[in-house]
Amino acid sequence: MSEDHHVPGPPSDIADTLNAWRDLFQRKHADDIEGLSVLDATEDPIFSFYVDFADIDGDDLLSYRFNEYPEQTIELANEVLRSMCSEHTDVRCVLRPLVFPDEKIVSVSDLRMRNRSKLVSLIVSVKDVGPRLGYLKRARYVCIECGHQEFVDQRVARERKRPSGPCKICYDEAKKALNGDISYPLFRHLN
Ligand SMILES: [Zn+2]
Repeated sequence: MSEDHHVPGPPSDIADTLNAWRDLFQRKHADDIEGLSVLDATEDPIFSFYVDFADIDGDDLLSYRFNEYPEQTIELANEVLRSMCSEHTDVRCVLRPLVFPDEKIVSVSDLRMRNRSKLVSLIVSVKDVGPRLGYLKRARYVCIECGHQEFVDQRVARERKRPSGPCKICYDEAKKALNGDISYPLFRHLN
């Protein structure tokens, strides 16, 4: 990126940042945003919208703005989230960047005045973990019969997704052994 020094404020910078956030959410999280319709504002009025730090850092403008002006840039992200998510849920979505590189992770006891307005990631222990929605991008399912593994892409705000059918290896074996077609219900019955 260029060496020009931007200051936070010019309307064009703000517009560019808003566009960059919108673009990132559309590229990486369109499914997650649609999945938000399962959320219920009476249960939890705020939803943490997890975004990989690497995705933010991979965009020149966002990387610069996020690292130099984290507060303002996160505010802009939340503004975009508010408008994008409002079609699907009443729950307020707030940006929670995750998976920071090591150099950004500090202990609370190491925080100093010089860290003011710097972007840091804290490791804390949380006593009461809320809803069961996890940040799991892919789940691996292993067949207990043959060890065949299947990966299923997950969405942030959805119930855990499972493989759509039986273990393909075992199912094919069973079909072969029985010389041809066998319905899934029958296959399940045989197991
Ligand atoms: Zn199997």
